[in-house]
Amino acid sequence: MSSIKPPLAIISAMEGELRAVLGQLTHQKKVSVGQRDFWLGHWHGHDVVAVLSRIGKVAAATTATALVERFGVAEMVFTGVAGGLGAGVAVGDVVVASHFLQHDMDASPLFPRHEVPLYGRSHFDTDERLGSALALATQAVLADTVGLLGAQAVQEFSLTAPQLHRGLIISGDRFVCSTSESAALQRALPDALAVEMEGAAVAQVCHDYGIPFAAVRTISDRADDGAHHDFNRFMDSVASRYSAAIVSAWLRSRP
Ligand code: SAH
Repeated sequence: MSSIKPPLAIISAMEGELRAVLGQLTHQKKVSVGQRDFWLGHWHGHDVVAVLSRIGKVAAATTATALVERFGVAEMVFTGVAGGLGAGVAVGDVVVASHFLQHDMDASPLFPRHEVPLYGRSHFDTDERLGSALALATQAVLADTVGLLGAQAVQEFSLTAPQLHRGLIISGDRFVCSTSESAALQRALPDALAVEMEGAAVAQVCHDYGIPFAAVRTISDRADDGAHHDFNRFMDSVASRYSAAIVSAWLRSRP
């Protein structure tokens, strides 16, 4: 442990997602900034700041900015849940983002649809090295879901062969829970694997400050008419455990 190394940030949008992560942090110290609690601690020999961003792009951007300005973090990782959009992106699968886009950004006709005005781009890349390290950690975790979750949860949520995907995740200030809306998103953005409400905002802040960023999202629903069913139970029984195990495996393997 070196105290001069800047800390690594772990961000979650929802309480259930953060709880499992906090369960692993030792030497915890809470610092409150901007109505948020930032938890400083140690995990596998690394200095870590874990925080609840709350839901939506503005809340996520504020959180990411505070992590840079007040805590001087070296890298950020977002862990949470998302709705599956791409064919074959099933509940219980995990998506590691390669890049992000805001699906509700529309300053047309002044700027092309989805382009962030004055940035000249619609897509924000994640850090390749960080994403690859998280993908490796995810693969290790998905290889033994029975060991992590127990046979009953694996059977209940049909998690016998969960898949890792890497690609585009789209974000917007809407919980997508109708088949017509998810079909419209798939038509407009056929490359999108998953939809959530924070990642593109954090990616934009990290782009502005030159901070490496990566995101890992467990698919909690298919963003269709059944999206709200059992959301909380899935969070407690599956997604929060995946998150903590994936971050743990990543930090353990990190020099
Ligand atoms: N039904 C939940 C909704 C929470 S908002 C509740 O009542 O508590 C959804 C959160 O999960 C956001 O942080 C978002 O990033 C992610 N998410 C999961 N599935 C999503 C979907 N289908 N559309 C948008 N965001 C989704």
